[in-house]
Amino acid sequence: VIVQAVRGHLKKDSQNRTLLKTLAELYTYDKNYSSALEIYLTLRHKDAFQLIHKHNLFSSIKDKIVLLMDFDSEIKKVVEELEDRPELQHVYLHKLFRRDHRKGQRYHEKQISLYAEYDRPNLLPFLRDSIHCPLEKALEICQQRNFVEETVYLLSRMGNSRSALKMITQELQDVDKAIEFAKEQDDGELWEDLILYSIDKPPFITGLLNNIGTHVDPILLIHRIKEGMEIPNLRDSLVKILQDYNLQILLREGCKKILVADSLSLLKKMHRTQMKGVLVDEENICESCLSPVLPSDAAKPFSVVVFHCRHMFHKECLPVPSMSSPAQFCNICSAKHRGPGSAILEMKK
Ligand SMILES: [Zn+2]
Ligand SMILES: [Zn+2]
Repeated sequence: VIVQAVRGHLKKDSQNRTLLKTLAELYTYDKNYSSALEIYLTLRHKDAFQLIHKHNLFSSIKDKIVLLMDFDSEIKKVVEELEDRPELQHVYLHKLFRRDHRKGQRYHEKQISLYAEYDRPNLLPFLRDSIHCPLEKALEICQQRNFVEETVYLLSRMGNSRSALKMITQELQDVDKAIEFAKEQDDGELWEDLILYSIDKPPFITGLLNNIGTHVDPILLIHRIKEGMEIPNLRDSLVKILQDYNLQILLREGCKKILVADSLSLLKKMHRTQMKGVLVDEENICESCLSPVLPSDAAKPFSVVVFHCRHMFHKECLPVPSMSSPAQFCNICSAKHRGPGSAILEMKK
């Protein structure tokens, strides 16, 4: 009866903490623990943990574990509370990690073994996304349990790609994966290792022939194949290599055409620009003596040299062209090692 009365009041005032707490206490008396717990959790009330402990409510928090996450400052407490229930501890930390990669970072080391124990499918995604988990520790755990894929990932992330490749070829015996890995790393040494390893294994050779075309010269591989060795689908592989080459040649020819067309249109544009007139008036100064290029007395004869870079000089301010270097260049632009001043316009009166 009281419960109903409290509920009635709550309908009018659903945020009232006192009423909610009262209701939770009443639920507890009623032994309706899961309803009580839900209220405590939404209130972020400390009694939630007490309640869980006292009445051993671990089974009922499994589906409410997300609510525990809102206890921001309480992560440590939750983790400690769940210490004897590692599978729940894992669910909690996993959800926490999903929600925020950084919040539970101090537990990432712990999480490696939790994932390894309870949730292997999520171990690799976790290792990929976590920047806080100690790689050596993870490697140790994965090697102990012989988790090949995870070990490969860790080895390559730690820069030991040769060992990683070795694991792929020897433990997984997966040529496609090995090739993919070598492509990703794009390291000549790795390809060398892979070829060396494959050379006496026909299925590996087929895989390599089918895939390395664009990364390594297939001739390197073909030369090393021993005489008399039978290789499945050799004909198809060779046809594919040749087709790949044709495709590459086509691509290059296409690029060449585009390049020529581009150069031509840019050349035309430059030519058009250079044909435009150049205005010379009293605003312009000689770049050498810094006085106006045009003489104040218009009756006086004068010569002005205008370069295509639009720098102007009095003719007498430029060095006299000698026999050894008859072409004149703009001093300013050739000092900057730029080219546009190579041609000149001369104005005379
Ligand atoms: Zn001058
Ligand atoms: Zn210039």
